Amino acid sequence: MNKEILKDLKILYVEDENDVREFTGKILQTVVKEALLAENGQIGLDTYKENQDIDLIITDINMPKMNGFEMCREIKKINNAIPIVVTSAHNDPDFLKEAIDIGVNAYAMKPIDLYQLIDNMVMAVEPFYLKKKLEEVNMSLQIKVEEGIKQIKSILDAQDNIVLVTDGEKVHNVNKRFLEFFNYKDLEDFQSSRKCMDDFFLKDEGFYSSDVLDEGEFWFQHMMLHLNEIDRIVKMKRIKDGEQRIFTVNIDNFEEKDEYYVISFTDITELKEKSNLLEYQATHDTLTGLFNRQKFHDIFSKEVRRDKRYNNSLSMIIYDIDHFKKVNDTHGHLVGDEILRDISKLVASTIREHDTVVRWGGEEFIVLLPQTDLDGAIKAGKKLQEVIASYKNPTLNEPITLSFGITVLKSDDTEESIIKRADEALYQAKEKGRDRIVSL
Ligand code: GH3
Ligand code: MG
Ligand code: MG
Repeated sequence: MNKEILKDLKILYVEDENDVREFTGKILQTVVKEALLAENGQIGLDTYKENQDIDLIITDINMPKMNGFEMCREIKKINNAIPIVVTSAHNDPDFLKEAIDIGVNAYAMKPIDLYQLIDNMVMAVEPFYLKKKLEEVNMSLQIKVEEGIKQIKSILDAQDNIVLVTDGEKVHNVNKRFLEFFNYKDLEDFQSSRKCMDDFFLKDEGFYSSDVLDEGEFWFQHMMLHLNEIDRIVKMKRIKDGEQRIFTVNIDNFEEKDEYYVISFTDITELKEKSNLLEYQATHDTLTGLFNRQKFHDIFSKEVRRDKRYNNSLSMIIYDIDHFKKVNDTHGHLVGDEILRDISKLVASTIREHDTVVRWGGEEFIVLLPQTDLDGAIKAGKKLQEVIASYKNPTLNEPITLSFGITVLKSDDTEESIIKRADEALYQAKEKGRDRIVSL
């Protein structure tokens, strides 16, 4: 048995025989941390009351004033778990029964055999000692777990992203950014007012919103996991200033006991604005704001597909400003630029919503007219001709005129072939004296 455990003990030793108490007491003092001695049950009880950190009681039974059993009963009222070793010459059944009643842990026969007493002490204390050790281990484990949680929290809090941890039913953790963005005091504050994230997502084209959720499906991550990463984009309102911000959503799904998701939202508002700008720049002409030649290819192929599907006519107008070089030469490039802008605006506001006008290059433009046959396109050309005829520029004396080449998509046409035909028509319009429409 582990005698080492005795050296941390504070004990109370109660014995009325002076010789025995002093001799045994002295020996006990060498094996325990501290031994308090008492000469009868009453003094033993008083000593215990004053020293409730006593770990073990060793007591004689037959003593004046208060016997050992009475004392133990009183002490047990204060601390029912205190281990007790009884020393006595008695071993009759009544005596043992009372000892059991009181809850004596060990029994050492008198005259005292010190080795036996020490063994009895160890036997009495060991379960308490082990329990205490276990509690200490538990406590230190708990502290470690709490430290771990704290560490995770501080990692989450250090993130620039908005982060939440959920099992799909309940949000278990959110970070500081989350609370700041949505203006919640703490996690409980969020939990008590809202259960899911979906209502945060603003409806807008190109952004994910809960509209796409099936009825009854509360949590968006199931849905979102089906999306391509590039489509996991949401718009949410920052409560503080009401600003709408754009986020990509990252979902990490890990399984331990249950399914857990760590969901983080990365603010890409500026990036998105920049990419929108870049996309705009890549597809638009800087001077006129019209679509550029690059964008024309996209629109044309889309319109051709649609035309094939619905068997509607797709028409094309190419127009070119007449004698524009002269305008530049006479009035300067800046006036030329202004005229290009003005005419582009006029054309864009004259054509129908589904028509597209593109700056093909220089002072040459293409209009695509879906669901429009050749007659319709010629009418549209005439309308443009009229609108431009009424255009006046303050520095110009002479009117601006356009020449038009018009054609309609044929079944075996390619982009190249239809443009070539429209160009040929434009060439003929120029040849015939300009300011006119030729269709082929
Ligand atoms: P035509 O009637 O045969 O079309 O004669 P034109 O002078 O209009 O044709 P030409 O192709 O000889 O000249 C086109 C002119 O358009 C030359 C160029 O200075 C002008 N131009 C092209 N792009 C721009 C532009 O962005 N700004 C300005 N100001 N002028 C431009
Ligand atoms: Mg010209
Ligand atoms: Mg030209």
